[in-house]
Amino acid sequence: MPDFSIGVDLGGTNLRIAAVSTQGELLEKVTLGSKAAPTRDQVIGQMCDAIQHLSAKYRAAGNLLGAGIGVPGIIDMATGTIRKSVNLPGWEDYPVRAEIERRLHARVVLDNDARVAALGEQWLGAGRGVSNMAMITLGTGIGGAIVLGGKLFYGMNGMAGEFGHVTLEPEGVPCGCGNRGCAERYASASAILRMAREAIATGEAPSLAAASSDAQLGAQSIYNLAMQGDEPARRIFQTFGRYLGIMLAGAVNVLNLDMFVIGGGVASAWDAFAPKMFEELRTRSVVYAATTPADPLGSEKVTWGRAHSPAPAEQSSAAAGARDVSSLVPANEYDAPARITIITRALLGGDAGLYGAARSAALAG
Ligand SMILES: [Zn+2]
Repeated sequence: MPDFSIGVDLGGTNLRIAAVSTQGELLEKVTLGSKAAPTRDQVIGQMCDAIQHLSAKYRAAGNLLGAGIGVPGIIDMATGTIRKSVNLPGWEDYPVRAEIERRLHARVVLDNDARVAALGEQWLGAGRGVSNMAMITLGTGIGGAIVLGGKLFYGMNGMAGEFGHVTLEPEGVPCGCGNRGCAERYASASAILRMAREAIATGEAPSLAAASSDAQLGAQSIYNLAMQGDEPARRIFQTFGRYLGIMLAGAVNVLNLDMFVIGGGVASAWDAFAPKMFEELRTRSVVYAATTPADPLGSEKVTWGRAHSPAPAEQSSAAAGARDVSSLVPANEYDAPARITIITRALLGGDAGLYGAARSAALAG
């Protein structure tokens, strides 16, 4: 058996921990339910107990290379602390990495959740075999990360990839970051709910009133209405797709990457927003216009795996069923110079962060 590492997804409603081999095989996944408001020290205790249990179980067969922890928030990579996290009050400026390393006697990597998700998708998901890509996660807000040469690009102090705070409307909706008109005010779950509230206020969207009453299910209910042909709901996702397309057009122009992976919960509304998103991309990005795939809307199922001759076991895993585009991509020994920009949905869902966190720990060695 190969060596393995531990991936941790901290911060959602559950604490999830996985043991993953260096070949990308999931050995075991543990989900610890969140008790009523456990304290920081309780969470760290539960996490370390579970990691020690998993590492003891698989130690006989392979070495534990370390643990990676994905956290929603701004991470100080140098000190291994959480600088700011809305979901984890009381964790800011606490020496998270040092404390967990002390308890585990193993290497620990603490990183942002969107970044480890990008690493997971690049390793085993939509971006498998693609060295240069970005991931954009659409949730309550917008997360982002850039992978260059198969490694995360952090920027000067770990703040690269903030696609969500690019200004799209100079005098637009105020954002928590202090700016106005940020992308995440227009292309996130909270943006969908805001647009629904505004439509309801006009008195012309009675169907939305019922759908958006539940803040948890709101975006999903509005998506269902849109797919049933409800015009106010359809307009919301068209507006969403328009702004997302404008944001992506800028990103494609600046970065000229092979692939942009769209993940996060709202990515499941792809059918409702993607046509408008691609329309904006084609008209607003000179780089995208020059590198548009023949069938961009079909590109969410594209994988480049075959161009890189993965092992048979790999083909049957996460990317199974994805459309092969080896005819579009020269089957070179080196990284394929595809000449097309693929904008595609994430493949691994919530597990991307677990795989990516494990990967980050393995790569750190
Ligand atoms: Zn902002």
